[in-house]
Amino acid sequence: MNKAYKYRLYPNAFQRELFTKTFGCVRFIYNRMLEDKIAYYQAAGKMLTTTPAAYKKEFPWLAEVDSLALCNAQMQLQTAYRNFFRDNSIGFPKFRSKKAQKNSYTTNCINDNIAIIGSCLKLPKAGRVKAKFHRQIPKGYKIKSVTISMEATGKYYASILTEYEAEVPAISLDANKVLGLDYSSPHFYVDSEGYAPDMPHYYRRSESALAREQRKLSKMVKGSSNYQKQKKVVAKLHARIRNQRKDWQHKESRKIADNWDIVCVEDINLKGMAQGLHLAKAINDNGFGQFRTYLAYKLAERGKKLIMIDKWYPSSKLCQNCGVVNTELTLADRNWVCPSCGEKHNRDHNAAINIRDAGLRMIA
Ligand SMILES: [Zn+2]
Repeated sequence: MNKAYKYRLYPNAFQRELFTKTFGCVRFIYNRMLEDKIAYYQAAGKMLTTTPAAYKKEFPWLAEVDSLALCNAQMQLQTAYRNFFRDNSIGFPKFRSKKAQKNSYTTNCINDNIAIIGSCLKLPKAGRVKAKFHRQIPKGYKIKSVTISMEATGKYYASILTEYEAEVPAISLDANKVLGLDYSSPHFYVDSEGYAPDMPHYYRRSESALAREQRKLSKMVKGSSNYQKQKKVVAKLHARIRNQRKDWQHKESRKIADNWDIVCVEDINLKGMAQGLHLAKAINDNGFGQFRTYLAYKLAERGKKLIMIDKWYPSSKLCQNCGVVNTELTLADRNWVCPSCGEKHNRDHNAAINIRDAGLRMIA
């Protein structure tokens, strides 16, 4: 199993410069290869396969940074590009902008080139970078890769992906301990028991503070030192909200994993939903996809199961009492009465029951 640990880094001047250079090279190679792939596709209608090595002659400065970081950029591009070939409607992968909120690169652990030594993280090319290890990586966990990032706040982080042999308890799953979860924008989720958590809306709570700081920012002269300072204030607020949200999701997913043996969720395309229904803000606020990831590994650690229900399953429109599909139901209908059996439904609770039952059928 895999687990990631994120630590704050305190690079020295040389290391900061190297990181900046690496972020730039990774972005450059990604964009350059994409450009060549698009040109080739438009000329030949086929997929061009290239490697970063092919560019090192023309751009010798690429050799100054961690070559594994360049390989990872190539791999990320390949994944994006293959998705394009699988489904043309997605469009070409996008170029990476310099203005991106976050600068990052990923490198892999090969022959102990990455290691934790005292209070430092040893990295290829950068050497030992000071770090704050607030949480220890347990013994026996192997480092697979590290993603170095610089956030808009100017802080540096290392996200260390580890692999470990899990001692999964062999438990027999209890068919009475099956829970269905339906994503619900006001409550985060509603479960098949009718429970909806009281999700603290950190974003909304901090929204007025954020709006105030953003208003200040908009009145400043772009590029001035005050503007740069204020930008960091705004970024810090965003980061704080993100962390609070993560903490809450960890606690909530742990509770569910402790109490239930099998959890069923819908495999919904939140991104598509966010674009289509202008729910982007609510969904970004909630981060249901991230929650599902936490839930999946917390259940797996306990020898339990997360079941994904096909996203085309009509969980909302199906009456869980008589099985009739109510095609008249619109997104605005939060409560409805079954036209066939007359049962009164809360939209999300009904959906959660259907998701649970669909999961039960899958394991039967
Ligand atoms: Zn009915």
